[in-house]
Amino acid sequence: MKLTFHGAAREVTGSAHIVTINGKNILLDCGLFQGKRKEAFEKNRHFLVDPDKIDVMLLSHAHMDHSGNIPTLIKKGYKGKVYCTDATADLCGIMFRDCAHIQTYDVKYVNKKRLRQGKAPFEPLYTAEDADKAMEHLEPVPYSKPFKIFDDVEVCFHDAGHILGSAFTEINFKENGSTKKLVFTGDIGRHDIPILKDPVVIKDIDYLITESTYGDRRHPPAENVKAAMKEVVNKICKTKGKLIIPAFSIGRTQFLVYILNKLYTEGKICPLPVYVDSPLSSAATKIYSKHRECWDAAAAEFMINGHKPFDFETLRYTEGVNESKSLNNIPGPMIIISASGMCEAGRILHHLKNNITDPKNIVLIVGYMAQNTLGRRIAEHQKEVKIFGTPLPLAAEVEEMAALSAHADQFEMLDYFNRCGASHIEHVFCVHGEQNALDFFSQRLLEAGMKNAHIPSPGQSFEL
Ligand SMILES: [Zn+2]
Repeated sequence: MKLTFHGAAREVTGSAHIVTINGKNILLDCGLFQGKRKEAFEKNRHFLVDPDKIDVMLLSHAHMDHSGNIPTLIKKGYKGKVYCTDATADLCGIMFRDCAHIQTYDVKYVNKKRLRQGKAPFEPLYTAEDADKAMEHLEPVPYSKPFKIFDDVEVCFHDAGHILGSAFTEINFKENGSTKKLVFTGDIGRHDIPILKDPVVIKDIDYLITESTYGDRRHPPAENVKAAMKEVVNKICKTKGKLIIPAFSIGRTQFLVYILNKLYTEGKICPLPVYVDSPLSSAATKIYSKHRECWDAAAAEFMINGHKPFDFETLRYTEGVNESKSLNNIPGPMIIISASGMCEAGRILHHLKNNITDPKNIVLIVGYMAQNTLGRRIAEHQKEVKIFGTPLPLAAEVEEMAALSAHADQFEMLDYFNRCGASHIEHVFCVHGEQNALDFFSQRLLEAGMKNAHIPSPGQSFEL
């Protein structure tokens, strides 16, 4: 077997790895690179691998840094199937189109400048038509049901507890007479996070490719989320300000809505209006409502008791740009949940621009903010941040709620691998992390009993 790492190698975006078994190339994930614009632009357009040479693709989950470049892969010549869970396929349907829209819009903006400079215009990374074509390649399969992709290669998706439809990819294969098991984690979720089932333990792993996002950190326990949220909401009720929450459309937004719903139902917060202001988030929430097979017992029980997990009296999913703009003229207190999660695009930029200069407002950071994103600059409490090219003083309060993370932290990941049987693992490859997290986490994995730990560089291959 050969492993080659094409993305999320010594960084946190652009997940893409190739497993070569018996001469067949299996692509794990095909994510978008995010971060520095120019660099991401180049990386997303130039695959390190010829799409024509990939035989099959397996997708761990619908987040853009794992799935977002599938339409490019297909546009550039990949003809095979993309296996994923049912819920992931549904989520990709809205994600790809949304991304195509953003790409087209971005390029239009860049091209205006280029034309003025007498330079040739750029093409968008992919269009809505490419997004639709990509959807035809998706092949949904249920959780926990092994399926063959080649004679000697069988795959099974397991609940990863990260976002709706997220999966650990287990690959059992026979090569040169011996049988081995490779597991690719995608993103590792957490126990007891709202809505989703817990991550499934997989035993007897020989080779492991693991994410390492929080490999050097510890989150507050997930059960503190409600208490922390109650505190910050009641604070905004007192200041009569606006609580602005940049949140990924998929996953984080639904966690937030569900928690706010519970707090509201239990009478623990003032009944302030809550707006979900992102068409993508609204569409994703409908998919969360549909896929009850992914819900945990608590979410199912909440429903049985007569509540809709993603709907309550003071919650409103905005419709159209005009309603989004009108939020600026309505006085607080209110909560605005908007995307994109790292504040790189979308309506959240307008809400931040309109609200970060006022000290009675709060920006609540609820997710990972990659380097070189506006979200990171806000999370770092920089005194001044640029939005739409205008420098603005950051006067609003900035709070962070790490307990809401959908990624397991160092201790949760170690605990998970110990339950899988860490000492059975011959080789572990740490991907999807910044350098510190990778260095630290790979050492912890060796201490846990894994025999060899590697931190692959982009394009690096390993023969096993
Ligand atoms: Zn993810």
